[in-house]
Amino acid sequence: MDILEKIKQAGLVGRGGAGFLVAKKWSAVKDAAGDPSASSPRPELGTKAGQVKKYVVCNAAEGEPGLVKDSYILEHHADKVIDGMKIAINFLSVGSEKNKPAVKGYIFLNHAYNKKLNKKLAALLKDSAIEIFIKPIESGYIGGEESAVLNAIEGRRIEPRLKPPFPVTHGLWGFPTLVNNVETFYNVNLVNSDQYKNNRFYDIAGDCPNEGVYELPADLTIEKVLKETKNYPKFPFFAQVGGDMAGEVLSSRQLKGPATGAGSITVFSLAKNNYKKIITGWLDFFADESCGQCTPCREGTYRLREVFMEEKIDWVLFNDLLDNLADASFCALGGSVVVPIRSFMKNVLPEMEAKK
Ligand code: SF4
Repeated sequence: MDILEKIKQAGLVGRGGAGFLVAKKWSAVKDAAGDPSASSPRPELGTKAGQVKKYVVCNAAEGEPGLVKDSYILEHHADKVIDGMKIAINFLSVGSEKNKPAVKGYIFLNHAYNKKLNKKLAALLKDSAIEIFIKPIESGYIGGEESAVLNAIEGRRIEPRLKPPFPVTHGLWGFPTLVNNVETFYNVNLVNSDQYKNNRFYDIAGDCPNEGVYELPADLTIEKVLKETKNYPKFPFFAQVGGDMAGEVLSSRQLKGPATGAGSITVFSLAKNNYKKIITGWLDFFADESCGQCTPCREGTYRLREVFMEEKIDWVLFNDLLDNLADASFCALGGSVVVPIRSFMKNVLPEMEAKK
């Protein structure tokens, strides 16, 4: 059975947060003809005239505060991640003598991870078609967005691109490009060697005793994950799931489903936190991390913070600004500002206020 069929049968989904079907993405890059007029300034592929290039990018940007899952995987399983990339390169390299694409890989590596992992990764990448590209320090959270990653590698301003066209057909320098997360390539290695067990990594942090990264079944409920890792609190709490900033906020009674997004679970003690502190933390983060490309997000995140800091908050205006972010932002970051704030206000704030 070929790797695409194995990935399909395993039902593998991307672990970068969006949960896109891996087989669908791989097929799209494989089937993309490539734009014959595109040209790359990088000579390293040694392509012949008219030969299509394709790229494989492992997104190891991991810029959301508190998330260390990719770092953990690269520290413990770098060989498997790189093998997953090599499998993708081989998969995309197949073609007739005339139409055989030249394929190159990049690991887009968080600059802090590069410090501790560069030697190890460089040794594993020796004589391969993969190189490390260090994420520019100033690129921040948005520097991990799929198309912003491509802009960074091309040396352009680091901001999301207009989609469509999508990277699968028009990625690096206009060539078809496969961008997958670290955990996804790790899983590809397991699928290929028939060791995949539908597990995923959970990044557990916050007001709990055993913070860390754990590999457990992907279909466990959030409640079960906290119990299995001995992190289930004995005090009233709530949790933010799927991202330490952009994730949904759930009360302790709403943890009967599986973790979504990037698989993070952050525990908050109800007594130790207050709504001003929590919402201010999100607003500061999103206002600072807005790349400034579009008005709803550039101005909206700034104005939201301003409105929220007033002694008497204008909730009508606050909600209008949130609606505008959800409806009119250019990329997912703008829309994701709304998720933690609205879910917190709906699921947790009434309980928090009642306790007081
Ligand atoms: S939504 Fe925010 S991060 Fe995304 S393009 Fe607009 S300004 Fe940049």
